[in-house]
Amino acid sequence: MESSCTVNTANTDHSFDILIVGAGLVGSTLACALGESGYRVGLLDRSPLNSNLKFENDFDSRVVALSAASKSLLQDLKIWQTIVQGRHCAYKSMRVWDADGTGAIYFDSKELDFPELGFVIESRILLNALHKKIVEIDALKVLAHGEVVSIDPCEDNRQNLQRVTMKDGTMVTAKLIVAADGGASTVRNLGNFETREWNYNHKAIVTTVRMSEPHNACAFQRFSDSGPLAFLPLDSGEEIQGGYFCSVVWSVVPDYAEHLLSLPSDLFNKELGRQISHELGDVLWSEKLQSFPLRQMHARSYFCDGIVLVGDAAHTIHPLAGQGVNLGLLDVKALAEELNEARLKNRLPGDVIVLSRYQRARIGHNLGMMGVMEGFKKLFGNRSPWAVWLRNFGLSRVDRLNLFKKLLARGAMGLD
Ligand SMILES: Cc1cc2nc3c(=O)[nH]c(=O)nc-3n(C[C@H](O)[C@H](O)[C@H](O)COP(=O)(O)OP(=O)(O)OC[C@H]3O[C@@H](n4cnc5c(N)ncnc54)[C@H](O)[C@@H]3O)c2cc1C
Repeated sequence: MESSCTVNTANTDHSFDILIVGAGLVGSTLACALGESGYRVGLLDRSPLNSNLKFENDFDSRVVALSAASKSLLQDLKIWQTIVQGRHCAYKSMRVWDADGTGAIYFDSKELDFPELGFVIESRILLNALHKKIVEIDALKVLAHGEVVSIDPCEDNRQNLQRVTMKDGTMVTAKLIVAADGGASTVRNLGNFETREWNYNHKAIVTTVRMSEPHNACAFQRFSDSGPLAFLPLDSGEEIQGGYFCSVVWSVVPDYAEHLLSLPSDLFNKELGRQISHELGDVLWSEKLQSFPLRQMHARSYFCDGIVLVGDAAHTIHPLAGQGVNLGLLDVKALAEELNEARLKNRLPGDVIVLSRYQRARIGHNLGMMGVMEGFKKLFGNRSPWAVWLRNFGLSRVDRLNLFKKLLARGAMGLD
């Protein structure tokens, strides 16, 4: 950031208490949580909001598996109703197994006393529900097509502000900037936040498939030396176009990813069916493949002067447990609670006490989940006979311990 300057807020395009940069899943949820809080809130994104989604039989290849904790937050914000009116799948069971042995674990919501284990929702349906809510909140100012290029600390009437300049030259000021601009966050970089990064040396291959046998609202996860492969059930499980739709996230080493991406679709479908041990019959069709490099990143601190990080801007995590958005929504809940309390206590939103409390509430939990994912990835990526034995023994043992399974499921559902 550059040196301090004085600014007359009357000469800037807008002046906010809180400016949220990024209208993705996390920033949009925060905007809904703070929109009617009494703060002057701005929401800025380089792309326009989409509150008018029309879809038919095509599925978004990006989906999220939402936990019970995320559902509860979205219910409180009155967004859940719109989501469930759209397409979604409440998944009731999950089968996890190791391709190198006989170890397997089966989670059944009925056995564990939960109505479901989670919800698979297409990202565009969730985002659309959030954007629909945002356009209804009069107090919220949306700045679309606004790409942040610089941030300078400023002063106005002895108040510390941040001045944000956008690509088109528009300037806005805010007492607090929330970076919700994703894993490659420009705001985090402009704020000189230190991060710790691990390159997984894996790519995620993402696609939608139509299978010959019904998924029965079950999610599948298979670990092998090529990497974890997840099948997430889509829709209610009714037959559509002669099959049953699932979303696939397959994390593989880059060479294998290149090979898969180069295959004609019939050969890819055969390989995918073989890799999932034909649990759902044959792969009848797959959509054009998308691939994403996978990195795990964690910011060493979640705030500095006048800037706070949430969601992927603060932490990116391996998608194998489908926790990225869920962690981000827990950040939103904690930050909104602290900011609402600050308002009642007449504290500024950028006050160090307010932001430290948010950081304390979230950093340990986020790091804990990232540690678990790292451990899983190492254990399942290790081909030594001891590691294979330990995995298979562990999976079979845990499968017989209902109480432990329940604890694991509660953790993944964000209930602890
Ligand atoms: C293959 C894959 C599968 C996944 N599956 C799951 C899953 O099943 N469950 C789950 O919970 N998570 C999953 N995730 C993770 C999840 O997608 C992310 O955690 C989530 O999208 C992060 O949301 P976000 O709002 O923090 O960031 P983003 O979704 O990246 O949104 C950032 C927003 O900021 C805007 N922006 C960026 N830069 C600027 C700028 N300079 N100026 C203005 N605007 C800007 C962008 O336009 C965008 O709208 C998966 C991730 C991957 C890669």
